Amino acid sequence: MDSETLRRVEALRAPLEAAYAGNFARLRELVGLGVALRSACDGLLARAPTDELTDWRAALAGWELLGEGEQQFAIAKGMRLLARFPKAGKAVAAAARNRPPPSTPAADAGDPLAAPATSLPGIGPAFADKLAARGIETVEDLLWLIPRRYDDVRDARALADIAALPDGERATFVAKVATSRMVFARGRRWAEVRLGAVDLTSPATAMVRWFNMWSGLDKRMPVGSEIVLSGVIKRRSGRLEFANPDILGVEVPGTTAPNAPPAILARYPMVEGVPPGSVRKACASAIARAGEHVNDGVPATVEVAAGLPSLATALARLHEPAPGIPPAELAGMNRGDSPWHRRLAFGELFALGVAVALRRRERRSDAAVPCARISLASVTSALPFTLTAAQARAIDELATDLALAQPMNRLLQGDVGSGKTAIAFAAALQVARAGRQTAIMAPTELLAEQHMRTWTAWAGRAKLRVELLTASTPRGVRASRLALLAGGELDVLIGTHALLAEGVGFRALGLVVIDEQHRFGVAQRAKLRDKGDGQGAPHLLVMTATPIPRTLALTAYGDLDTSVLDELPPGRQPAATRVVRGAKGVASAYKLVAERVAAGERAYVVCPKIEASETATRDVGAVHADLCAALPSARVGLVHGQLDAASRDAVMRAFSAGELDVLVATTVIEVGVDVPAATAMVVHDAERFGLAQLHQLRGRVGRGGGRAHCVLIAGTASEDGQRRLDVMAETTDGFRIAEEDLAIRGPGELLGPRQAGVPRLRFGDLRQHTELLLEARRHADVVLTTDPDLERPEHAGLRLAIARRLAHDVYGAEGG
Ligand code: ADP
Ligand code: MG
Repeated sequence: MDSETLRRVEALRAPLEAAYAGNFARLRELVGLGVALRSACDGLLARAPTDELTDWRAALAGWELLGEGEQQFAIAKGMRLLARFPKAGKAVAAAARNRPPPSTPAADAGDPLAAPATSLPGIGPAFADKLAARGIETVEDLLWLIPRRYDDVRDARALADIAALPDGERATFVAKVATSRMVFARGRRWAEVRLGAVDLTSPATAMVRWFNMWSGLDKRMPVGSEIVLSGVIKRRSGRLEFANPDILGVEVPGTTAPNAPPAILARYPMVEGVPPGSVRKACASAIARAGEHVNDGVPATVEVAAGLPSLATALARLHEPAPGIPPAELAGMNRGDSPWHRRLAFGELFALGVAVALRRRERRSDAAVPCARISLASVTSALPFTLTAAQARAIDELATDLALAQPMNRLLQGDVGSGKTAIAFAAALQVARAGRQTAIMAPTELLAEQHMRTWTAWAGRAKLRVELLTASTPRGVRASRLALLAGGELDVLIGTHALLAEGVGFRALGLVVIDEQHRFGVAQRAKLRDKGDGQGAPHLLVMTATPIPRTLALTAYGDLDTSVLDELPPGRQPAATRVVRGAKGVASAYKLVAERVAAGERAYVVCPKIEASETATRDVGAVHADLCAALPSARVGLVHGQLDAASRDAVMRAFSAGELDVLVATTVIEVGVDVPAATAMVVHDAERFGLAQLHQLRGRVGRGGGRAHCVLIAGTASEDGQRRLDVMAETTDGFRIAEEDLAIRGPGELLGPRQAGVPRLRFGDLRQHTELLLEARRHADVVLTTDPDLERPEHAGLRLAIARRLAHDVYGAEGG
């Protein structure tokens, strides 16, 4: 990295450190910090742009509007981002700081946790570099390097005893070295050791090979030495073989200091280029030196109340299990569900609970303009249908929120077709009656236009003034709509995210509705507050058709209140679903399509995304050709991700206008498209879709009221894939499907890998730890009730833990 970039890193580091110092002690005093951070960040972005830095910069945009806790998160996040850059030499650093460095509090200087790893015995610069490459720099980092597995050397077996074990099983055994040699062949180099039984009367033998980095093997394991190995059994022509087994211990006969292994051996994650034994020793020194100081923020009182061990004990036991630990307990440690593991998970979930609660409170501390309730009749008289009970309930919940002097923050969950738009309409009407405006943001232009049609149809009787603004709105029209908006002559503006861009000036923005969108983070929220008119922040409604399981709702969306539409409008039947396979299955699916088209209805045929590397799956082009051949009288359209947006829109429009009967598509039709005449959905290679996706797809049909059909064509389904399809055929309940999805796939994937607000947990598991999560949240609430600002000395660790360890998860992921 060049010195100019380094200088810019340091220029950003200086204000960050000033803010971070002393546990944010001076954060309030640092006038102009936002300006300093933004300009330093821009400087660095110009030299070393990364996505994360860009995201972080976006979060800084609304710095002055962030609450103190959010600012702390932002600082901590910035520190983490900078940690990835090399530290500049002293000269560069000094040059970058044109003012004296912030005073570091005494506590930091003497903090044994923050000491560099090199301060421990046996860690030299070379070793430290290897650790640093894995992100381990301080003594504390070593404490958190938790073993993946434990080998019980106490029950190492004789070679003869493992001879009968099946291939693929892991075995720990003792054997004697019969011959050892280095082999060079075909450009490869490996060590080869033939083993015999320790008990020489047994004929058992095994061949072991270690590839790479094993010179000097003969010295380490001379013929006649006894070794303890742990590895996975394989046989070749009936002979026992091991490749790269772990060496748990070597006892060289006749030496004065036998190198006997400890009874239980912790296996650490691989650190490239470092022998496992050194990592183990480093962690042991870290525990001895600083284990007692570690603090993940869980106060001792909470540990006691929750019946959990102290963190220090948990880490000590994880690094070094008690020698007498019963095998059953050790098995628990190997599964990761020991009390010690639980303690680590609790720490994460507890801090997450506190962070979410703090954010929720901060958001509530904003002021909003209250909009008085309106009668339900004034809503229903504008709608062409009778509300379902669920809709009426949700409208009531929103109406109460909107009438308060703090911003509503509400998530509206409801299956596709459950009628969420009517809820947004009622809210917009209430806000308009109070003289304020509503922005509706859809994820695509097509969906914005669809909203526009619905809203226009309903707006007339309610005398709501609605307009559309997208990138394709002609310049002149755009200007006049913006003028209406600024003049307060529009009540509702529909568009995409661009609505929050600069230059779109509301006269009095009272409500923002985000449709089908998860990625709405702190940065966008800051912009939102920006769009307030000085009288208060707008109310916020986020609508989603992706059902969110309870655990995720509590964490990722823990700071939003939730309303649920758990009822479909009357007359609307869930699609009848069946799973078929093979050529016969495809034929029956196409027969269904032909029938529906003949009846004047429309059909979707969906294929997985095209990936060049794959030949097994049906590609959309071939399916399109097949269908054209099979249904000569039907008009069959094709749309996939490789088309540009304009052509894609054109095909979708043709389908929704009835100029096409069948639409062959990849998942681009997934979100929100409403074509009431579509009654059949066929999905090729259905097992390749996630449950949530299949559920979304299925929701595309039957929006017109008649009976809809869904045929899932299974390709070669894995066990999980098969289970997913079974679930789809069994139930149409979105919430059950979401729970199943969470169970099958885990939370990370459920909302996509980088989905907003899904915390990245190292030890906690939202699927496994539902009860623990709820318990942690109860304790978090108690702590915050007794000490709302976490000012008590016993909560200092908690403040720091939230800022340091969760900044990335809670703040970072959401800000993206
Ligand atoms: P979502 O956005 O939740 O998927 P929409 O708001 O688009 O659902 O509603 C789906 C369809 O159902 C629309 O055509 C809408 O007009 C209709 N609809 C909504 N609520 C009702 C109701 N209570 N009775 C009958 N039809 C309804
Ligand atoms: Mg919708």
